[in-house]
Amino acid sequence: MICLTLSGNTLASCLDEIKQNRAYIDAAELRLDLLQEEEQQKASSFPSMTDVPVILTLRRKEDGGQCMLSEKERRQLLLSALDGDFAYVDIEEDVKRNDVEQKAREKGVRIIRSFHDFSGIPDDIYSRIYRLSERGDIAKAAVTPHTIQDLLTLFRIAEELKDVPKIIIGMGDWGIPIRILYKKAGSLLTFACSGEAVAPGQVSAKDLKMLYRADQVNERTGIYGIIGNPVLHTSSPLIHNMGFHAINYNAIYLPFLVDNVRIFFALAEYLKMRGFSVTIPFKDAVLMYLGNISREVKQIGACNTVVRMPGMWKGLNTDYYGFLQPILKDIDSGRVRSALVVGAGGASQAVVWALRNRGVKVTILNRTVGRAEKLAKINLCEYDTLDNASKYEGKVDLVVQTTSVGLYPDFDISPIDFHFTGREIAYDIIYKPRMTKFLKEAEKAGCTLHYGSEMLMDQGKLQFELFTGYHYPKEALQNL
Ligand code: NAP
Repeated sequence: MICLTLSGNTLASCLDEIKQNRAYIDAAELRLDLLQEEEQQKASSFPSMTDVPVILTLRRKEDGGQCMLSEKERRQLLLSALDGDFAYVDIEEDVKRNDVEQKAREKGVRIIRSFHDFSGIPDDIYSRIYRLSERGDIAKAAVTPHTIQDLLTLFRIAEELKDVPKIIIGMGDWGIPIRILYKKAGSLLTFACSGEAVAPGQVSAKDLKMLYRADQVNERTGIYGIIGNPVLHTSSPLIHNMGFHAINYNAIYLPFLVDNVRIFFALAEYLKMRGFSVTIPFKDAVLMYLGNISREVKQIGACNTVVRMPGMWKGLNTDYYGFLQPILKDIDSGRVRSALVVGAGGASQAVVWALRNRGVKVTILNRTVGRAEKLAKINLCEYDTLDNASKYEGKVDLVVQTTSVGLYPDFDISPIDFHFTGREIAYDIIYKPRMTKFLKEAEKAGCTLHYGSEMLMDQGKLQFELFTGYHYPKEALQNL
């Protein structure tokens, strides 16, 4: 089930949240602790106002909630709310057997026995979940992974406890994959928000249902994703999931925040992933784990696409292809013969290689000049420091911005001080924001512009083909 955590402070606003999200959810959690005091007294009437099963929760401050009542007052409030037809009631692990539990059992309300850890994953998580479920209750562990290893640990614990009725929540950014793959983890439900997250890392109900189709995941669902750090800003889940939906392909694509590539490969094996995209800063780091690499990866030295082959992982590069598509005609027609490439990082490797491969004369500018020199030597081109950018004014046909300067949220800066003549084609490979400071300057001078979103889409289309064997469907593009 996708369960909406209601964040309103009145019953009416909670009902409104349910109405707005009704198409995406199977259940709702009424957080009594977030309601105004007079509204709390009327909570028993809530379940009859909606057609979704409702979980009753009165979360204490120490468990991440707002309830400051004494334990006796809290019990009384829960008891009076339980006059209503709630489907579930959340009772914390350390609360001894009491009249709330008794009333819930008499009324056939299922008990969710929960514990929260905002600092990490407790060592005894396995035994605690097991013990909580022993009386037939649903065990709920909301814990905080801080590394990809922690995430792998959570999936493994979930697998070991696969026959136990439970809910495992990974809070924060590291836990997002287990929130989305809740069915894979054998969780009864995943909590979702309607707007602002009520708990750290919550995904919106709309995204869970419409983007990820998290509730449709089954044994046969192919798992794909993107690894990076940062990674949550990426639009790749939209491109790939919309493609899967359009051709009815049983697969899901999700973001993985990663700090250690080796451990991620262990997680990828564990989840039987079929492939994944690679972004900053892992395009080089993945190479040593690949059994096979394409000619382009070998020559570019960076890999942005990994696909499973029998017994090994294969690395490919679709960045160079995606980068070229929007300017291919200009290169083939001779409009672009020379280019200034700003940046010498992972993405620049693909850009420079693509341009050189098409015979364009390239000069690389980079803050760390040694890096520019190395890339220039490999690709037989020129290099210089960022400070010398003005030397090239009026002398190049194409200026490509490949650094991370200007990327959201620091979007009001450009890595170079460069006066465009208006004759150049300006191309920024950053896609968030679409219009960077670099492009604004070029637009003012009347240059032709190309956006990072064009490259992203074109590299994504080829990646989709490598992942699925199908062309990227035209219908999916209408939803992007
Ligand atoms: P990377 O390997 O980390 O390289 C970063 C580059 O930015 C390096 O050249 C670095 O210079 C430069 N840089 C960073 N901070 C700087 C600063 N304060 N001043 C001057 N230069 C600075 O990253 P990447 O993988 O190449 O990615 C770079 C950008 O391309 C990202 O914004 C990414 O989102 C975008 N990208 C877009 C697409 C697409 O499909 N549109 C695909 C791939 C990447 P130093 O060498 O001096 O550190």
